[in-house]
Amino acid sequence: MLKIDTEACIGCGVCEDNCAFGAIKVEDGCAVVGDNCTLCGTCVDLCEAGALSIERDESGSGVDLSEWSGIWVYAEFRHGRLAPVALELLGAGRRLADDRGVPLTAVLMGSGLDGVADTLIAHGADRVLVVDRPELAEFTDDVYAKVLEELIRKEKPEVVLAGATAIGRSFIPRVANSLTAGLTADCTGLEVRKEDGALLQTRPAFGGNIMATIVCPNHRPQMATVRPLVMRPLPEDPSRRGEIVAVDPDPASLESRVKVRKSVREESADMANLQEVDVIVAGGRGMGGEKGFAMLNELAGLLGGGVAASRAAVDSGWIGYAHQVGQTGRTVSPKLYIACGISGAIQHVIGMQASDTVIAINRDGNAPIFDIATYGVVGDVFEVLPKVIERLRQG
Ligand SMILES: Cc1cc2nc3c(=O)[nH]c(=O)nc-3n(C[C@H](O)[C@H](O)[C@H](O)COP(=O)(O)OP(=O)(O)OC[C@H]3O[C@@H](n4cnc5c(N)ncnc54)[C@H](O)[C@@H]3O)c2cc1C
Repeated sequence: MLKIDTEACIGCGVCEDNCAFGAIKVEDGCAVVGDNCTLCGTCVDLCEAGALSIERDESGSGVDLSEWSGIWVYAEFRHGRLAPVALELLGAGRRLADDRGVPLTAVLMGSGLDGVADTLIAHGADRVLVVDRPELAEFTDDVYAKVLEELIRKEKPEVVLAGATAIGRSFIPRVANSLTAGLTADCTGLEVRKEDGALLQTRPAFGGNIMATIVCPNHRPQMATVRPLVMRPLPEDPSRRGEIVAVDPDPASLESRVKVRKSVREESADMANLQEVDVIVAGGRGMGGEKGFAMLNELAGLLGGGVAASRAAVDSGWIGYAHQVGQTGRTVSPKLYIACGISGAIQHVIGMQASDTVIAINRDGNAPIFDIATYGVVGDVFEVLPKVIERLRQG
């Protein structure tokens, strides 16, 4: 809180003049702070009389951390199907729950959800909270946020994970904000800190130049989103048993200010293809131009795969953005990723590091792509690839 030393305050008004939020006023010769103070500290820095100070609660929000327990995964369900990222998050959540010795709960919201909870249990959930309501048939930010917030307030999980999908990105920040919890978006790694059980949330920062690990020590729940295809689902185990709990939310939570008139699905063969194929042949600046990419197309065709690209290749106009892999492109995890003339910048690697096998072809033996490659070929793509294509053509 902002503290005012009334003895020291000289009522000069510098704080009032400089407060961007109109949160401090001088009344009867002394500063008075209002509710909208954001604790930005500007007035403290400017107060020559030393009458202002900020007292921070070192324990954070005063939240009793021991009241919050359990790992939750928001299991996204839309257009009659479970988003694959829900199962990937259960894989990560299972590990966290085991490390913490707490249950793993999936939260399933939508309409017509028969049988879906069993799939979540088979992929690692101990318990599924099912909110099956016609009002949830179409996604709206406000209703989904209110229902999830209501559940979190009631049950107090220590961790809430969600997919960084269009839906997750849309309503999870709203939930975090309502709960005054933090939110770490687009995590690439999640671990439990041994000393105190806090969630270590790792994600690229400063344009991907460093990996930052973010901890939320004093607030609950700890909330994070993870992009699709970054984590791995557990193999399905139909023999797993779990608890399925039907939840009836407060009717007020189901009232929306938004009316969805029509929901239209955008079809993009390119994008669907890259996330579904087993083999991806990717090219970077080293492919030199469209001709180089024609060679990659041929190779991908022979392998029954798709073609991807680094941002350098996309920015050069050799191939469309739908093919870009990396931080500002797609995340892919094929069985085989062949990186041709790609240096292996972190922003690219983030989008393909979950591939099972990576083959890199680069004429620079020190290129960072070799650090993550399963197999590396130091050579010129224009010498290596024609030979590979020729060999495959021969069958
Ligand atoms: C905020 C931000 C977001 C970004 N997002 C992405 C993203 O989503 N995806 C992405 O890819 N990048 C992204 N980038 C850009 C990234 O930092 C790199 O600049 C980019 O990945 C480099 O692409 P490249 O490897 O094709 O090119 P370069 O780094 O120029 O590498 C070309 C490689 O080709 C090799 N080579 C050249 N000629 C041949 C040859 N004849 N035979 C064999 N090898 C050859 C060279 O040795 C070199 O290693 C982002 C950057 C920022 C700052």
